[in-house]
Amino acid sequence: MFDSIMKELFLQAQDWESETLMPLKKGKRYELKVTYKATFKACPHCHKSKFHKHGTMPRKVQLTEYLGFPCFLIIAIQRYKCCFCGKVSTPELPESLVSKGTKDSVLLKKEIILKLKSKQSISEAARDLKVSPYSFYRLLNQMPTKDHFSFLPEVLCIDEFKATGDCKGKMAFIAMDGQTHKLVSLLDDRRLEHLVTYFLKFPRQVRLKVKMLVMDMNANYGALIKRCFPNAQLVTDRFHVVQQLTRAFNQLRVQEMKQFDTHSPQYRHLKYYWNYLLKNFDDCSENRFYSRSLRQWTSSHDLVLQLKAYTPVLDEAWEVLQAALTAFRKHDDQKFFEIIDELKEELLPETFVKKFQFLASKKASIRLALHTPYSNGCVEGMNNKIKALKRVAFGFRRFSNFKKRIILMN
Ligand SMILES: [Zn+2]
Repeated sequence: MFDSIMKELFLQAQDWESETLMPLKKGKRYELKVTYKATFKACPHCHKSKFHKHGTMPRKVQLTEYLGFPCFLIIAIQRYKCCFCGKVSTPELPESLVSKGTKDSVLLKKEIILKLKSKQSISEAARDLKVSPYSFYRLLNQMPTKDHFSFLPEVLCIDEFKATGDCKGKMAFIAMDGQTHKLVSLLDDRRLEHLVTYFLKFPRQVRLKVKMLVMDMNANYGALIKRCFPNAQLVTDRFHVVQQLTRAFNQLRVQEMKQFDTHSPQYRHLKYYWNYLLKNFDDCSENRFYSRSLRQWTSSHDLVLQLKAYTPVLDEAWEVLQAALTAFRKHDDQKFFEIIDELKEELLPETFVKKFQFLASKKASIRLALHTPYSNGCVEGMNNKIKALKRVAFGFRRFSNFKKRIILMN
């Protein structure tokens, strides 16, 4: 086994000697005893080169687990005494095997980092590798935490997510590069004042390079643009526009549904087949299937026509939704806002109209969303990863550790 480690780490075979080929079991661990006998070319003190052997220095290095138990390399490092100045020197172990002053081998550290990148809790991962969780925390603590203030991307996607208990704000803040999808910054407070202070740390020239700020439309970061990114334009995330439309429609559908008796077929149909109404009508197929709830043969196409005709309000709202979604899909912003401007307020409920008109108030940023390829998809994806990490790791007590793991995952 030691042969393979030597090969993998490019260790010099002539410097090593091992009593046994395989590690031996000692209680609940394996141990492999080796001697390290690298010599000095010259004495580090007087630079002459004649030595006597002078005992050994023990060193324990943890390898990756072996047959389900922790495995250690017990190294006896040969020490040398200079024949001229009499000082004793001990050779350093190669950095490719273990770094100075640490107990975990480089191989083990690599595995720990792999584990830190995975969605697994530290205690569980530590059990897998047969190491103490402290080995994990030690590595996390060695990671640099300082933010760099020398670069900002042209397209900055920002969002917020629920963070750890020790955060100052309730929500944490995440910013990513909209083109390379790299993590730009992760802050434990999304409040505006905090963000402004943070971004003002970037030199003005760097901040001027930001051309677009992509965010969901409820986020209120307009002031951030004014104060930190004078060259940037706001882009509303496309997905959130569609979500706003479908939510408005769904709310209306529930209202209309409640006009019917809960045992009526109309109520049941609107309750169970609502997602057909949200589909792109052009994609609804005419293939017929037997619906037990309807007690008749139907197709997605016919089903939509039947459902929307249940009330005049539903009919009108569905027409508006379909037209708006189609315009949006075709990136036709002119048509899209025309539809919103021409809503029949006397027919449609106020909440529905308001939700659509809210979009009109974001005209400039939605227009940009339709004419640029950028969306917040990367941040949403990252947020999902973060959620998964939090779920398996049973929450993080410290934001700094959480942040480091997210950086590793990215
Ligand atoms: Zn000497």
